[in-house]
Amino acid sequence: MTPEPAPSLRQLLAFYLDAGVDCALNDEPVNRLLDEEIAAPVQTEPREAPAREESRRAQPSPAPRLGATPPSPEAAIVSAREAAATAPTLDALRALMEQFDGCALRATATRLVFADGNPQARLMLVGEAPGRDEDIEGRPFVGRSGKLLDLMLAAIGLDRSKVYIANVIPWRPPGNRTPTPQEIQICLPFIQRQVELVNPDIVMTLGNPATQTLLQTREGIMKSRGRWTDYNTGTRTIRAIATFHPAYLLRSPAYKRMTWMDLRAVAQALEALPGKAAN
Ligand code: URA
Repeated sequence: MTPEPAPSLRQLLAFYLDAGVDCALNDEPVNRLLDEEIAAPVQTEPREAPAREESRRAQPSPAPRLGATPPSPEAAIVSAREAAATAPTLDALRALMEQFDGCALRATATRLVFADGNPQARLMLVGEAPGRDEDIEGRPFVGRSGKLLDLMLAAIGLDRSKVYIANVIPWRPPGNRTPTPQEIQICLPFIQRQVELVNPDIVMTLGNPATQTLLQTREGIMKSRGRWTDYNTGTRTIRAIATFHPAYLLRSPAYKRMTWMDLRAVAQALEALPGKAAN
């Protein structure tokens, strides 16, 4: 039998790209099959520490934290909840999220994408998760959908100095894949605490995943958008409303009209509501 010809570098890269692998995590390749913890996860006998240390040193150096055994999702959710509750300020919350190792996305993302905008804002926008541009820059909504978001805000006289922007998931999922339900549950306490600390008068969720997660609804965005609901921050009940995600509007511009209506509703509510501070 004639062996298959080895794929060219271009073919390999095309394969990776199709699989959603579009960035390098490290300068050096890491052979995970040689990683003891991954190749032989079930151990019946405790190993002698020195041998293990030796064989580890013989391996190519792995990307930071990638080889570490992550906590179970349940433990990670509890630990995220406990950690988030202790953060007295946004800076403290950011600092503890930088150190949090319960979400595997942190190991593959370049950096934490915490927030952008004004922490004193009366309007807080919450998206799903950072993409490639956000991962590089460390700020939410800086790519194409971010440009559209800026235009949407400008349409009601707002800009980033007057709103606060964050995501349900603060680390980019590799290849922009959809975050898993577990990843969402692990990160949920952080965004909930972020909303509580910002304490806006209105929260607007962008798109289905952010809406279903933060506003705890199972309805799809076609039904949930444009409808006011109450959101309990933990210290106060505020108004919340969902609209389409700007990335969706880029693909389906026909829905911009409804988004405009949702934005108008927000502008009117900001005028009518007694605000925590004038912005
Ligand atoms: N999409 C999101 O949901 N958030 C971002 O920060 C960027 C794109």
